[in-house]
Amino acid sequence: MTRKRILVTGGAGFVGSHLCERLLNEGHEVFCLDNYFTGQKQNIVHLLDHPYFEMIRHDVTMPFFIEADEIYNLACPASPVHYQYNAIKTMKTSVMGAINMLGLAKRVNAKILQASTSEVYGDPKVHPQPESYWGHVNPIGERSCYDEGKRAAETLFVSYHQQNDVQIKIIRIFNTYGPRMHPNDGRVVSNFIVQALQNKDITIYGEGDQTRSFQYVDDLVEGMIRMMASPASFTGPVNIGNPNEFTIRQLADHVIRLTGSSSKIIKQPLPADDPMMRQPDITLAKKNLDWAPTVQLEEGLLKTIEFFKTII
Ligand code: NAD
Ligand code: UDP
Repeated sequence: MTRKRILVTGGAGFVGSHLCERLLNEGHEVFCLDNYFTGQKQNIVHLLDHPYFEMIRHDVTMPFFIEADEIYNLACPASPVHYQYNAIKTMKTSVMGAINMLGLAKRVNAKILQASTSEVYGDPKVHPQPESYWGHVNPIGERSCYDEGKRAAETLFVSYHQQNDVQIKIIRIFNTYGPRMHPNDGRVVSNFIVQALQNKDITIYGEGDQTRSFQYVDDLVEGMIRMMASPASFTGPVNIGNPNEFTIRQLADHVIRLTGSSSKIIKQPLPADDPMMRQPDITLAKKNLDWAPTVQLEEGLLKTIEFFKTII
C-alpha cells in the first residue's frame, strides 16, 4: 500500500475527526487543519500522539500551502445555529476556503473532495432529491449564507476542473449524526438526545411533520472514501445519505423510547425557510460507488446516546 499525504480541512469537527481516524487506520499520513470555530481539540486528542497525524491551527479563508496527494475540504460550520452566528464569515469560509483549497490542489496536483450538502436543494419541490434537481433556495434568507456559499463552492470546484484540470469530487451530504456531535450545536439529533438524557422538554419546531433522512457518520465516511477512490471521470455531485425518512416527531418518539426518558414534547416556532421534506435519491452512489448506508436509525441512535451519556 502507498501511504498518501492527506489534508482534511475542518478535521477537528464532528465528521472530520471520524474521517481523520479512518484515514490514519488505513495507514495514511493525515494533516488536520482547523480553526476550532465549531470543532474541538477533544475530538482529535486521541490522535495527537499518532506518528502520522499533524494538527494545524489555520483559517481556510487564508491561503495555505502543504504538499498533499488528496484534500478533503470540510471546513465550514454546519449547524444552522453556528452558520447563522456570523453569516458573512460562513460565506467567506465556503467561498474563500474553496478558492484557497482549489488553488492548493492545482499547485500540488492533489485530488480534492468538497463536502457539499443537501442544502443546495433548499426547500425542495422534487422528492426524493436526485443530483439533477437544481433546488429551491432563498438567496436572501436566514439559511442563504450556508446554502448559497455551498452552491458557489460547487461552482468553483466545477470551474477549476474545467479550466485547470483539477481532479475534483463533490459529495452532497444529507443530515448526518453520531458520536462527537457538539452538544450545543442546535441540530435536531443532538438537541433531542441531550434534552432526553436530562429529562428536559423535547423542543419540536413547528408541528414536527417536516421530514429528514438521517445518516450515521460511519456510513458517510465510507462514502467519502469511496468517492475519493472512484475513477477520475466521476466528479459528482453525488448524494451521500440514508434514504430512510422520518418526521421530526417520529425522531422525538424514538429518542424518548431509546433513552427511557420522562421528557415531554413541546412545540416551538418553526424557523424561516426550514425545508419541509428531505430524502436523498442514492441511485448514483449505488451505481458508481457501490455504496449504500448500512446503519439504520435505531442502531445509530443507540451508539450516539452512549456517547452523549459520557459527556453530559
Ligand atoms: P462541524 O461544525 O462539527 O465541523 C466543521 C469544522 O470546520 C469544525 O471543526 C470547525 O472548527 C471548522 N471550521 C469552520 N470554519 C473554519 C475556517 N474558517 N477555517 C478552518 N476551519 C474551520 O460540522 P460537521 O457536521 O462535521 O460538518 C463537516 C462538513 O460537512 C461541513 O462542511 C458541512 O457543511 C458538511 N455537511 C455536514 C452535514 C451534517 O449533517 N453533519 C450535512 C451536510 C454537509
Ligand atoms: N428541529 C427541531 N427541534 C430542535 C432542532 C431542530 O424540531 O431542537 C428541526 C428543525 O426545525 C428542522 C429539523 O429538525 O426541521 C432538522 O434540523 P437540523 O438543524 O438538525 O438540520 P437541518 O434543518 O439543517 O436539516
